[in-house]
Amino acid sequence: MALIVQKFGGSSVADAESIKRVAKRIVDTRRAGNDVVVAVSAMGDTTDELLDLAAECTPIPAPRELDMLLTAGERISMALLAMTIKGMGLEALSFTGSQAGMITTSEHGSAKIVDVTPGRVREALDQGAVAIVAGFQGFSRTSRDITTLGRGGSDTTAVALAAALGADMCEIYTDVDGVFTTDPRVVSKARKIDAITAEEMLELAASGAKVLHLRAVEYARRHGVALHVRSSFSNEPGTIVYDPAKGHPKGEQVEEPVITGIAAEKDEAKVTVGGVPDVPGKAAQIFEIVAKTNANIDMIVQNVSAADTNRTDISFTVPVGDGRRVIEALEAERESLEFENLQYDDQIAKVAVVGAGMRTSTGVSAQLFRTLFEAGINIEMISTSEIRISVVTRADLMDQAVRVLHTAFGLDSDTDATVYAGTGR
Ligand code: ADP
Ligand code: ASP
Ligand code: MG
Repeated sequence: MALIVQKFGGSSVADAESIKRVAKRIVDTRRAGNDVVVAVSAMGDTTDELLDLAAECTPIPAPRELDMLLTAGERISMALLAMTIKGMGLEALSFTGSQAGMITTSEHGSAKIVDVTPGRVREALDQGAVAIVAGFQGFSRTSRDITTLGRGGSDTTAVALAAALGADMCEIYTDVDGVFTTDPRVVSKARKIDAITAEEMLELAASGAKVLHLRAVEYARRHGVALHVRSSFSNEPGTIVYDPAKGHPKGEQVEEPVITGIAAEKDEAKVTVGGVPDVPGKAAQIFEIVAKTNANIDMIVQNVSAADTNRTDISFTVPVGDGRRVIEALEAERESLEFENLQYDDQIAKVAVVGAGMRTSTGVSAQLFRTLFEAGINIEMISTSEIRISVVTRADLMDQAVRVLHTAFGLDSDTDATVYAGTGR
């Protein structure tokens, strides 16, 4: 008997019909002789709607109350799913994150899992029931409050449960057939990837491919959890996220493509500290101030200083949500930093090409730059890792940049990808 964790995203449980369809899949898996634990997201765009509602009530909602509000979304879907399964003749019990033992840090909106104590989930399995766990939420022992793991966090709930329970497989069911070479909502010629290394998946998720929550991929890699990303709307096999140290899942030696996928995102902003004296210690001072705001810095560029003034510009990117805090902190230190001006630009996008094959192949950056140049797209910043090249472009050119790169790197498929549901919100 295998233990399978199945996670269903919001668009897979958007209405009563979808909940019945998902329940049927869970019942079939159970009746095939497996133990089943389910992590479920809030129905459809519920989380966004709750956020909109909160914003209508007050401009800056208290983080504790916001978490209380958002976790209600997953409570609705878990209860509906459990009662539907019971109606189909199987035992099922739903649990909040707290009941399921998802112990987290206390930062509201971005809590990290510190322990998983799924005693009640185990008991439910021992009684022959299917356990349905509310995704994306936990409980902090320090603050004794309900927390959330950050947007998209239900994937991480599923992986953490799979690791704690020693599951044989963690299936992530969503509204597309798996992980594609890029977002199939943007490029219809995106190609489904049959198997991808956890390392490449990490880079894609970190660069904006929201098909998997970044922390879910990290957690799965650290705990050796095998992931299968697939559609809840079809029976097609999806994408296996695997660890090459354990061999390729298909057993064959595969030649690595140079580029595995392309990801993009718009929710970063560029901060430029202009006219900074080019003397040792200035960069340290700037980034110490930024670090105190807890903003997540990504790319950093320092220009060559002007010969006559010996002043330079330092630019970096931060998530849009951190932008205001960073600008206020730098502005407050204007005198000691001695900069001439401060610019904030949130009309930027980050586009990243990822592939483990880059390690052994040359000319990838040249091809990337030439392709964007030929499409008339200006590159404003560049950063690289061993298996990724990221560039910053204007936000309104992001989709075009992804399309031309997808074609240039030979990733276009002959057939159109299917997007089964969801609003892409
Ligand atoms: P769920 O609600 O099931 O968690 P998400 O909306 O979080 O679903 O993630 C699935 C979506 O991720 C897809 O509908 C697709 O638009 C988007 N996506 C972005 N990049 C990729 C990619 N490389 N492969 C597949 N889907 C992607
Ligand atoms: N419902 C949450 C969100 O929309 C968590 C998730 O779906 O993974 O972000
Ligand atoms: Mg998701």
